[in-house]
Amino acid sequence: MKWLDFNTKTVHGKNEKPKSVSKITPIYQTSAFSFADLDDLEDYFRGKNDYLYTRMNNPNNNDFASRVAALEGTPDAVVTSSGMSAIMVGILAVVKNGDHIVACEDLYGGTYQLLAHELREFGIETSFVDFTDHSAIERSIQPNTKILYSESVTNPLLRVEDIPTLTSLAKKHDLITMIDNTFATPYVLQPYSSGVDLIVHSATKYINGHGDVTAGVVAGGEELITKARAKMIHLGCNLGPFDAWLASRGLKTMGLRMQRHIENAQALADRLKKVDGIKKVYYPEYVSERGNGAIVTIELAETADIEQFFKSLSWVKIVPSLAGVETTVSYPMGTSHRSIPPETLDKLGINQNVVRISVGIEEKTDICEVFEQAVRQAVLT
Ligand SMILES: *Cc1c(COP(=O)(O)O)cnc(C)c1O
Repeated sequence: MKWLDFNTKTVHGKNEKPKSVSKITPIYQTSAFSFADLDDLEDYFRGKNDYLYTRMNNPNNNDFASRVAALEGTPDAVVTSSGMSAIMVGILAVVKNGDHIVACEDLYGGTYQLLAHELREFGIETSFVDFTDHSAIERSIQPNTKILYSESVTNPLLRVEDIPTLTSLAKKHDLITMIDNTFATPYVLQPYSSGVDLIVHSATKYINGHGDVTAGVVAGGEELITKARAKMIHLGCNLGPFDAWLASRGLKTMGLRMQRHIENAQALADRLKKVDGIKKVYYPEYVSERGNGAIVTIELAETADIEQFFKSLSWVKIVPSLAGVETTVSYPMGTSHRSIPPETLDKLGINQNVVRISVGIEEKTDICEVFEQAVRQAVLT
């Protein structure tokens, strides 16, 4: 390339391709793919080449999607820029203007906002229902209802959804069931095997597990995922290749992490039930044979000083998220549930004294000790 000008060489270099094969999928940090000739380009449209443009697909996104599909036991999956965009493209794969959704009332705050405000502006209505009351679900189904939407384990009070009842109701009324499986993770629950059509995740949480990526996944059958993928592409909800690469890496240790998270959470929940100054410990009785998840929510006694509690947490940080390897606490009233109407919060039992604990993978005696000591301080003052 001796004849090339300096400025051209600056851009193109020697243009050599490596001959060795990388053990893991390398990071394809590229916005588009190049083609040798028009036939090669045409091969993309013939389905022989996989990649054209990163907003549509990329080897890192594909790698991450196929890993989650394998864990959820679904034929297909599509990854997105966040849990919220996964929920949005999953919903929009099913509904259009004039349709109706029936959702549980104890939803993640962001999902509540999406359904109650954003989608409503586009003519998609949602009824929020107490999903422990199955006749109330049936009563709220209308001729234009398309989706039953819930979370396998809810946030922050950890109600375990009765998925078999939901899917049988959905079948009876010809509806799509959609489950947010973020809190349970596919390690604990695989809702597709119980007949759920679409599973969504905030991969920001346990799937990545290291608190360094915002990502989402929609998993399900080929037909619905094809529709969800089209929404992802056209609404521009794609995940960046580097984030997909990080999430794939994080996911590889999910089994190990979850096992330890769950063991620690069970130990903490058992311990805190015996501590004075705590009015209530929320931890599920039974989610699956793999355990009951890694979130423990507590309600401090009325006499406890909540501000003192947060000040006394030593090495545990206040973080408005969950699912990292480190134990963290969040304050639902101040963050995730700010947007939920006060009547609903009241009815659900979310108040000023409720604290959500995301139990990490540290040594369980240290975790139990730090919370016992913070409760003691909160009650003393
Ligand atoms: C965090 C979370 C979301 C939203 O995910 P983002 O990645 O923050 O967009 C949705 N559902 C649940 C249950 C969550 O915890």
